Amino acid sequence: GPVDGPAWTGSSTAAFEHATAVIPGGVNSPVRAYGSVGGTPRFLASAAGAHVTDVDGRTYVDLVGSWGPALLGHAHPEVVDAVQRAAARGLGFGAPTTTEVELVDEVRARVPAAERVRLVSTGTEATMTALRLARAWTGRDKVVKFAGCYHGHVDALLAQAGSGVATLALPGSAGVTAAVAAETIVVPYNDLDALRTAFAEHGGSIAAVITEAAPANMGVVPPLPGFNRELRRLTSEHGALLVQDEVLTGFRVGPAGWWGLEGAAEQWAPDLLTFGKVIGGGLPVAAVGGRADVMDQLAPLGPVYQAGTLSGNPVATAAGLATLRLADGDVYARVDAAAARLRREVSGALVQAGVPHAIQWAGSLFSIVFGERAAAEGARDYAGVQASEHWRYAPFFHALLDAGVLAPPSAFEAWFLSAAHDDEVLDRVVEALPGAARAAAEA
Ligand code: PMP
Repeated sequence: GPVDGPAWTGSSTAAFEHATAVIPGGVNSPVRAYGSVGGTPRFLASAAGAHVTDVDGRTYVDLVGSWGPALLGHAHPEVVDAVQRAAARGLGFGAPTTTEVELVDEVRARVPAAERVRLVSTGTEATMTALRLARAWTGRDKVVKFAGCYHGHVDALLAQAGSGVATLALPGSAGVTAAVAAETIVVPYNDLDALRTAFAEHGGSIAAVITEAAPANMGVVPPLPGFNRELRRLTSEHGALLVQDEVLTGFRVGPAGWWGLEGAAEQWAPDLLTFGKVIGGGLPVAAVGGRADVMDQLAPLGPVYQAGTLSGNPVATAAGLATLRLADGDVYARVDAAAARLRREVSGALVQAGVPHAIQWAGSLFSIVFGERAAAEGARDYAGVQASEHWRYAPFFHALLDAGVLAPPSAFEAWFLSAAHDDEVLDRVVEALPGAARAAAEA
């Protein structure tokens, strides 16, 4: 089990040295490199329930959850069994399977607005396809996104922050052409006036507004009351589609994702939704779904081309199906309760150590923003998060890590809990919090 004090990381260090010689930055997805917190990324060997074990044999309470998929906890026996049985029948066929249809039925039962669903392998593919559909449907080119929202590494969606209103974004990543970047309008999150201005200036050419249903990729920045509903109204008014990206929130913050907590109650729905993470239970499945008339523009029915060798893969969809079938009301209640307790405990420890902060949360997702200003006002957009004392996170993170708790290795990511995070597991985190809070105070 976990031990206190800085751990021996010899095997991770050696693996990372090797990896950096052969893989750019030593990682296959940038945030894994501990760039903003420093130190040696732990190479993981296995995971079970609420714990992960690194190649040096040390076990940590895991608060990353594979960045979202591990809603039930890692390696749930029934999910592993479903995967093993599917694998034994063949790893992939490139032909339709009944498992895919069952998974789509499960999605539609939870989110009726997903009248039609196309399965893909990554969230990036899902949002890319959603944009292509929106452009084809409207005959328009421009897309509005919000600063600080992440929708995968789609060229048009990498534009991050442009200050000001309805800014035509410059390339947010090298290698994105100026022509593509010019089609993206970046607006501050939670800023309806900025969005209205964008529509006033470019309304006739805006194909879609894409938003995280509840942003959790700049840390958690919940939508202000009525924000999403107004997005729905404004897009309809201007003939643009509303794309709600639920890759992260979908099937995690509730049985029907964020839409189930908000749109369902208020009786509105986006035109298109994207899903990922939990829908694949840890294997590569994602999806785009929405209005039948829009979705039926996809090939082979319509003129919008989209395809994938691995799309609807039988092993991956078996993992997703088993996960969703196990994710009942009790699971969501446990995840919510674990998150509520941990939010309280984190905040309590920071108060005790005299660290001004706010805990921002959306459903079971939460993150910390540090500083007096954050404590007073919270952060309602990316600029607010950037203006916080985020440097306090690195020492906080490392104190937790040394005590056997693996939090997300970035201040700008949400913490992920699972149904396996019971009180005994959380006790372990709670023991580690005072030291981490003191480290944050001293930063
Ligand atoms: N949208 C959101 C809201 C996400 O959180 C992510 C991944 N973190 C993506 C899209 C991209 O998904 P993927 O990494 O599977 O391409």
